[in-house]
Amino acid sequence: MSLLENILKKVVLDKAIIEKKEQISALVYKIRLKSESIKTAEFTPGYFLRLGIGIGNDTISFKDKVRSYSVWNINKTEGYLDIAIATESKGIGAQWVTNCKEGDSVYFKWKKGNFLVDETATSYLMIGDLSALSHLYILNRNLSKNKQIESLIYSEKATNLFKDIDNSTPFNFYSLEQNTTTEILNLVKDIIPKMKGNKKVYIAGDSRVCIALNQYFKKELNWSTKQIKTKPFWNPNKKGLE
Ligand SMILES: Cc1cc2nc3c(=O)[nH]c(=O)nc-3n(C[C@H](O)[C@H](O)[C@H](O)COP(=O)(O)OP(=O)(O)OC[C@H]3O[C@@H](n4cnc5c(N)ncnc54)[C@H](O)[C@@H]3O)c2cc1C
Repeated sequence: MSLLENILKKVVLDKAIIEKKEQISALVYKIRLKSESIKTAEFTPGYFLRLGIGIGNDTISFKDKVRSYSVWNINKTEGYLDIAIATESKGIGAQWVTNCKEGDSVYFKWKKGNFLVDETATSYLMIGDLSALSHLYILNRNLSKNKQIESLIYSEKATNLFKDIDNSTPFNFYSLEQNTTTEILNLVKDIIPKMKGNKKVYIAGDSRVCIALNQYFKKELNWSTKQIKTKPFWNPNKKGLE
Protein backbone atom coordinates (compact mmCIF):
# COMPACT_ATOMS: atom_id res chain seq x y z
CA MET A 1 0.00 0.00 0.00
CA SER A 2 1.37 3.45 -0.96
CA LEU A 3 2.18 6.17 1.57
CA LEU A 4 -0.66 8.27 0.14
CA GLU A 5 -3.16 5.45 0.67
CA ASN A 6 -1.95 5.03 4.24
CA ILE A 7 -2.50 8.75 4.88
CA LEU A 8 -5.95 8.55 3.24
CA LYS A 9 -6.90 5.63 5.51
CA LYS A 10 -5.59 7.18 8.71
CA VAL A 11 -6.45 10.86 8.24
CA VAL A 12 -9.01 11.48 5.50
CA LEU A 13 -11.32 8.49 5.41
CA ASP A 14 -13.63 6.87 7.96
CA LYS A 15 -13.58 3.10 8.42
CA ALA A 16 -16.70 0.97 8.22
CA ILE A 17 -17.44 -2.75 8.42
CA ILE A 18 -19.72 -4.47 5.93
CA GLU A 19 -22.37 -5.70 8.32
CA LYS A 20 -24.74 -7.18 5.73
CA LYS A 21 -24.63 -7.95 2.02
CA GLU A 22 -27.75 -8.94 0.14
CA GLN A 23 -28.47 -9.36 -3.58
CA ILE A 24 -31.75 -7.52 -4.14
CA SER A 25 -32.10 -7.99 -7.91
CA ALA A 26 -30.12 -9.72 -10.65
CA LEU A 27 -27.95 -6.59 -11.00
CA VAL A 28 -28.02 -4.94 -7.56
CA TYR A 29 -26.52 -5.54 -4.13
CA LYS A 30 -27.61 -3.90 -0.90
CA ILE A 31 -24.70 -3.23 1.45
CA ARG A 32 -25.06 -2.23 5.12
CA LEU A 33 -22.03 -0.33 6.45
CA LYS A 34 -21.54 -0.01 10.20
CA SER A 35 -19.28 2.58 11.79
CA GLU A 36 -19.14 4.50 15.08
CA SER A 37 -18.61 7.67 13.01
CA ILE A 38 -22.09 7.28 11.44
CA LYS A 39 -23.63 7.91 14.89
CA THR A 40 -22.38 11.49 14.89
CA ALA A 41 -22.47 12.23 11.15
CA GLU A 42 -24.24 15.35 9.93
CA PHE A 43 -26.73 14.11 7.32
CA THR A 44 -29.20 15.51 4.81
CA PRO A 45 -31.06 13.13 2.45
CA GLY A 46 -29.13 13.23 -0.81
CA TYR A 47 -25.64 12.95 0.68
CA PHE A 48 -23.44 10.27 -0.84
CA LEU A 49 -20.20 8.45 -0.06
CA ARG A 50 -16.87 8.24 -1.79
CA LEU A 51 -16.11 4.61 -1.11
CA GLY A 52 -12.46 3.52 -1.17
CA ILE A 53 -13.17 0.20 -2.84
CA GLY A 54 -9.60 -0.17 -4.10
CA ILE A 55 -7.67 1.16 -1.11
CA GLY A 56 -4.97 -1.37 -0.30
CA ASN A 57 -5.27 -3.13 -3.66
CA ASP A 58 -1.96 -2.45 -5.42
CA THR A 59 -3.13 -3.96 -8.72
CA ILE A 60 -5.52 -1.12 -9.59
CA SER A 61 -4.73 2.43 -10.62
CA PHE A 62 -5.27 5.35 -8.23
CA LYS A 63 -8.28 6.76 -10.14
CA ASP A 64 -9.99 3.39 -9.81
CA LYS A 65 -9.65 3.24 -6.05
CA VAL A 66 -12.72 5.32 -5.24
CA ARG A 67 -16.35 5.25 -6.45
CA SER A 68 -19.45 7.27 -5.43
CA TYR A 69 -22.55 5.67 -3.89
CA SER A 70 -25.66 7.34 -2.50
CA VAL A 71 -26.93 6.81 1.02
CA TRP A 72 -30.20 4.94 0.64
CA ASN A 73 -31.00 4.72 4.34
CA ILE A 74 -29.28 5.77 7.56
CA ASN A 75 -29.76 4.81 11.21
CA LYS A 76 -27.65 7.11 13.35
CA THR A 77 -28.75 5.52 16.64
CA GLU A 78 -27.38 2.13 15.57
CA GLY A 79 -24.53 3.62 13.51
CA TYR A 80 -25.28 2.07 10.14
CA LEU A 81 -26.26 3.08 6.62
CA ASP A 82 -27.37 1.21 3.52
CA ILE A 83 -26.29 1.67 -0.08
CA ALA A 84 -27.44 -0.07 -3.27
CA ILE A 85 -24.80 -0.80 -5.89
CA ALA A 86 -25.67 -1.70 -9.48
CA THR A 87 -23.34 -4.00 -11.39
CA GLU A 88 -24.30 -3.09 -14.99
CA SER A 89 -21.02 -1.23 -15.45
CA LYS A 90 -18.97 -4.38 -14.79
CA GLY A 91 -16.30 -1.89 -13.64
CA ILE A 92 -14.10 -1.98 -10.58
CA GLY A 93 -16.95 -0.88 -8.26
CA ALA A 94 -19.25 -3.57 -9.66
CA GLN A 95 -16.51 -6.18 -9.18
CA TRP A 96 -15.87 -4.97 -5.64
CA VAL A 97 -19.51 -5.32 -4.59
CA THR A 98 -19.83 -8.75 -6.21
CA ASN A 99 -16.79 -10.03 -4.33
CA CYS A 100 -16.95 -8.22 -0.96
CA LYS A 101 -17.96 -10.18 2.14
CA GLU A 102 -19.74 -9.47 5.38
CA GLY A 103 -17.10 -8.55 7.98
CA ASP A 104 -14.76 -6.88 5.44
CA SER A 105 -13.68 -3.33 6.20
CA VAL A 106 -13.96 -0.44 3.77
CA TYR A 107 -12.95 3.23 3.91
CA PHE A 108 -15.25 6.11 3.00
CA LYS A 109 -15.68 9.88 2.94
CA TRP A 110 -18.94 11.83 3.15
CA LYS A 111 -19.94 14.01 0.17
CA LYS A 112 -22.76 16.53 0.23
CA GLY A 113 -23.33 17.78 -3.34
CA ASN A 114 -26.52 19.64 -4.13
CA PHE A 115 -28.78 16.82 -5.32
CA LEU A 116 -30.59 17.02 -2.01
CA VAL A 117 -34.12 16.87 -0.65
CA ASP A 118 -35.87 20.18 -1.31
CA GLU A 119 -39.34 20.90 0.08
CA THR A 120 -40.03 24.07 -1.94
CA ALA A 121 -42.31 22.52 -4.61
CA THR A 122 -45.82 21.07 -4.54
CA SER A 123 -45.31 18.34 -7.12
CA TYR A 124 -42.20 16.35 -8.04
CA LEU A 125 -41.09 14.19 -10.93
CA MET A 126 -38.35 11.64 -10.21
CA ILE A 127 -36.49 10.32 -13.26
CA GLY A 128 -33.62 7.86 -13.12
CA ASP A 129 -32.09 4.50 -13.89
CA LEU A 130 -30.93 1.60 -11.72
CA SER A 131 -27.88 3.48 -10.41
CA ALA A 132 -30.04 6.40 -9.21
CA LEU A 133 -32.96 4.50 -7.69
CA SER A 134 -31.74 4.41 -4.06
CA HIS A 135 -30.96 8.14 -4.19
CA LEU A 136 -34.44 8.97 -5.51
CA TYR A 137 -36.00 6.69 -2.88
CA ILE A 138 -34.40 8.53 0.04
CA LEU A 139 -35.41 11.91 -1.40
CA ASN A 140 -38.99 10.67 -1.83
CA ARG A 141 -39.17 9.25 1.72
CA ASN A 142 -38.05 12.56 3.13
CA LEU A 143 -40.53 14.78 1.31
CA SER A 144 -43.68 15.72 3.24
CA LYS A 145 -46.57 13.32 2.75
CA ASN A 146 -48.76 16.00 1.13
CA LYS A 147 -46.45 16.34 -1.92
CA GLN A 148 -47.49 14.96 -5.30
CA ILE A 149 -44.86 12.51 -6.53
CA GLU A 150 -44.67 11.37 -10.16
CA SER A 151 -41.93 9.04 -11.34
CA LEU A 152 -40.23 7.43 -14.31
CA ILE A 153 -37.68 4.84 -13.24
CA TYR A 154 -36.29 2.60 -15.94
CA SER A 155 -33.98 -0.29 -16.67
CA GLU A 156 -33.63 -2.62 -19.64
CA LYS A 157 -35.54 -5.18 -17.59
CA ALA A 158 -37.92 -3.63 -15.06
CA THR A 159 -37.32 -6.74 -12.89
CA ASN A 160 -33.80 -5.42 -12.17
CA LEU A 161 -35.36 -2.52 -10.28
CA PHE A 162 -35.85 -3.04 -6.56
CA LYS A 163 -38.28 -2.03 -3.80
CA ASP A 164 -37.54 0.72 -1.31
CA ILE A 165 -35.89 -0.06 2.05
CA ASP A 166 -39.30 -0.34 3.78
CA ASN A 167 -40.51 -2.75 1.04
CA SER A 168 -42.77 -0.07 -0.48
CA THR A 169 -43.09 0.53 -4.23
CA PRO A 170 -43.75 4.27 -4.56
CA PHE A 171 -42.35 4.67 -8.11
CA ASN A 172 -43.46 3.66 -11.60
CA PHE A 173 -41.03 1.26 -13.28
CA TYR A 174 -40.46 0.99 -17.04
CA SER A 175 -38.49 -1.45 -19.21
CA LEU A 176 -36.44 0.81 -21.48
CA GLU A 177 -33.14 0.39 -23.30
CA GLN A 178 -30.19 2.52 -22.20
CA ASN A 179 -30.21 6.11 -23.54
CA THR A 180 -33.71 5.93 -25.02
CA THR A 181 -34.24 9.65 -24.72
CA THR A 182 -37.13 9.76 -27.21
CA GLU A 183 -39.19 7.18 -25.27
CA ILE A 184 -38.39 8.91 -21.98
CA LEU A 185 -39.47 12.27 -23.41
CA ASN A 186 -42.74 10.78 -24.66
CA LEU A 187 -43.49 9.43 -21.19
CA VAL A 188 -42.50 12.76 -19.60
CA LYS A 189 -44.93 14.58 -21.92
CA ASP A 190 -47.77 12.42 -20.56
CA ILE A 191 -46.77 13.02 -16.93
CA ILE A 192 -46.24 16.81 -16.90
CA PRO A 193 -49.93 17.80 -17.38
CA LYS A 194 -50.78 15.78 -14.23
CA MET A 195 -48.41 17.83 -12.06
CA LYS A 196 -50.02 20.50 -9.87
CA GLY A 197 -48.76 23.73 -8.30
CA ASN A 198 -45.03 24.50 -8.12
CA LYS A 199 -43.22 21.75 -10.00
CA LYS A 200 -39.75 20.28 -9.62
CA VAL A 201 -37.92 17.50 -11.46
CA TYR A 202 -35.04 15.37 -10.20
CA ILE A 203 -33.07 13.64 -12.98
CA ALA A 204 -30.16 11.28 -12.19
CA GLY A 205 -28.19 8.43 -13.74
CA ASP A 206 -27.02 8.24 -17.37
CA SER A 207 -25.39 11.59 -18.26
CA ARG A 208 -26.85 11.49 -21.80
CA VAL A 209 -30.38 11.34 -20.42
CA CYS A 210 -29.60 14.05 -17.84
CA ILE A 211 -28.36 16.41 -20.57
CA ALA A 212 -31.24 15.77 -22.99
CA LEU A 213 -33.92 16.15 -20.31
CA ASN A 214 -32.31 19.23 -18.80
CA GLN A 215 -32.48 20.84 -22.26
CA TYR A 216 -36.11 19.80 -22.68
CA PHE A 217 -37.27 21.19 -19.34
CA LYS A 218 -35.28 24.40 -19.81
CA LYS A 219 -35.78 25.14 -23.50
CA GLU A 220 -39.12 23.51 -24.34
CA LEU A 221 -40.98 23.88 -21.07
CA ASN A 222 -39.21 27.06 -19.90
CA TRP A 223 -38.76 25.68 -16.40
CA SER A 224 -36.39 27.73 -14.26
CA THR A 225 -33.01 26.40 -13.13
CA LYS A 226 -34.38 26.09 -9.58
CA GLN A 227 -37.07 23.66 -10.79
CA ILE A 228 -34.61 21.29 -12.47
CA LYS A 229 -32.22 19.21 -10.40
CA THR A 230 -29.90 16.95 -12.39
CA LYS A 231 -27.02 14.76 -11.32
CA PRO A 232 -25.16 12.62 -13.87
CA PHE A 233 -24.09 9.44 -12.06
CA TRP A 234 -22.18 7.92 -14.95
CA ASN A 235 -21.04 8.72 -18.46
CA PRO A 236 -20.51 6.08 -21.17
CA ASN A 237 -17.08 7.52 -22.02
CA LYS A 238 -15.80 7.82 -18.48
CA LYS A 239 -14.97 5.66 -15.52
CA GLY A 240 -15.80 6.55 -11.94
CA LEU A 241 -17.63 9.80 -12.57
CA GLU A 242 -16.97 12.33 -9.74
C1 LIG B 1 -23.24 11.35 -6.70
C2 LIG B 1 -23.24 9.95 -7.26
C3 LIG B 1 -23.95 8.97 -6.58
C4 LIG B 1 -23.99 7.67 -7.10
N1 LIG B 1 -24.71 6.72 -6.45
C5 LIG B 1 -24.79 5.46 -6.93
C6 LIG B 1 -25.52 4.44 -6.25
O1 LIG B 1 -26.08 4.66 -5.18
N2 LIG B 1 -25.54 3.21 -6.81
C7 LIG B 1 -24.90 2.90 -7.98
O2 LIG B 1 -24.98 1.77 -8.44
N3 LIG B 1 -24.20 3.85 -8.64
C8 LIG B 1 -24.11 5.11 -8.13
N4 LIG B 1 -23.38 6.06 -8.77
C9 LIG B 1 -22.74 5.69 -10.00
C10 LIG B 1 -21.46 4.97 -9.74
O3 LIG B 1 -20.55 5.74 -8.98
C11 LIG B 1 -20.88 4.72 -11.13
O4 LIG B 1 -21.78 3.94 -11.87
C12 LIG B 1 -19.56 4.09 -11.09
O5 LIG B 1 -18.80 4.67 -12.12
C13 LIG B 1 -19.56 2.62 -11.38
O6 LIG B 1 -18.27 2.25 -11.12
P1 LIG B 1 -17.61 0.99 -11.74
O7 LIG B 1 -16.20 0.96 -11.22
O8 LIG B 1 -18.48 -0.20 -11.50
O9 LIG B 1 -17.59 1.24 -13.30
P2 LIG B 1 -16.64 2.28 -14.07
O10 LIG B 1 -15.23 1.75 -14.09
O11 LIG B 1 -16.82 3.65 -13.50
O12 LIG B 1 -17.26 2.23 -15.51
C14 LIG B 1 -17.06 1.13 -16.40
C15 LIG B 1 -17.95 1.35 -17.62
O13 LIG B 1 -19.32 1.19 -17.26
C16 LIG B 1 -20.06 2.37 -17.56
N5 LIG B 1 -21.01 2.57 -16.44
C17 LIG B 1 -20.77 3.14 -15.24
N6 LIG B 1 -21.87 3.10 -14.47
C18 LIG B 1 -22.83 2.50 -15.21
C19 LIG B 1 -24.19 2.14 -14.97
N7 LIG B 1 -24.78 2.42 -13.80
N8 LIG B 1 -24.87 1.52 -15.94
C20 LIG B 1 -24.29 1.22 -17.12
N9 LIG B 1 -23.00 1.52 -17.42
C21 LIG B 1 -22.28 2.14 -16.47
C22 LIG B 1 -19.02 3.48 -17.64
O14 LIG B 1 -19.46 4.50 -18.48
C23 LIG B 1 -17.82 2.78 -18.21
O15 LIG B 1 -17.94 2.66 -19.61
C24 LIG B 1 -23.30 7.37 -8.28
C25 LIG B 1 -22.55 8.36 -8.93
C26 LIG B 1 -22.52 9.64 -8.43
C27 LIG B 1 -21.74 10.69 -9.16
